[in-house]
Amino acid sequence: MIKQRTLDHAIKCSGIGLHSGKKIELVLHPGEVDTGIVFVRSDLGVDIQGHVDSVVDTKLCTTIGHGEATIATVEHIMSALAGLGVDNVRIEVNGAEVPVMDGSASPFIFLIQCAGIVEQNKPKKVLRIKKRVSLEEGNKSCALYPASGFRVSYLLDYPHPLLSDCKVSFDFSRQGYAREVSRARTFGFIHEVEALQKAGLALGGSMDNAVVLDKYGVLNEGGLRYADECARHKVLDTVGDLFLAGYPIVGAFEGERSGHAMNCQLVKALLADESAWVIEELKGATATTEELGFSVSVPN
Ligand SMILES: [Zn+2]
Repeated sequence: MIKQRTLDHAIKCSGIGLHSGKKIELVLHPGEVDTGIVFVRSDLGVDIQGHVDSVVDTKLCTTIGHGEATIATVEHIMSALAGLGVDNVRIEVNGAEVPVMDGSASPFIFLIQCAGIVEQNKPKKVLRIKKRVSLEEGNKSCALYPASGFRVSYLLDYPHPLLSDCKVSFDFSRQGYAREVSRARTFGFIHEVEALQKAGLALGGSMDNAVVLDKYGVLNEGGLRYADECARHKVLDTVGDLFLAGYPIVGAFEGERSGHAMNCQLVKALLADESAWVIEELKGATATTEELGFSVSVPN
């Protein structure tokens, strides 16, 4: 049997919120079996399930909410948890967003590995795609379809020298998420950042937590972490958004110019069609990394 996984012990960090610019404390706690990823507004005492049904906004990031309580930018930590195959965690934040850290999922990978990953005495559950589900909107599209393991391919195509016609593909049963994807930072254009900040948004945004571009190239002194870092970040976002299905997905995703809004719509469309998926308990001893997608051991 492949078992569910949680953290060995709680761990804490703090950082600033991308949108508010305020300092936020983040505490990760081990979660009970079958509880999934639960976000907690510790300042309000409200739990919000890390599930697509909780999504209330997808404009600049993925925001979940319950009543008046909301938490923005959940996708990078969701992505890190999916990438490390962690099933059950409680994530406390004392504000309305998850701290942006360096704009990638890498600090969360480090945090989760410091907390340690332990197995729980119940079989892991996965959501296996049985039928193709797709969405199209102008020149944007995305689809999920049956495949062994977990694969994500993405076409980034903005009219910009670094961002046009950039296609990336990952098969996570063969390529390590932590090494290949987790370090890719979010990105934005300098003119957009300035406009957002005038409107009171992205107040915490800076070159410390994003790749900032002008018309010609990258403004950050250190340059890029991967030549195709921006496309890899779209994969990182997608992995996080897809985990809002409530279970790790066994299947393949293909996106062209899609983002949080379409990712979340796609997961909703998938869940709405009960003939398109099945929840499988990995009770047998036979499930291999290849069938599962993500590695079931902790990567180095
Ligand atoms: Zn992102």
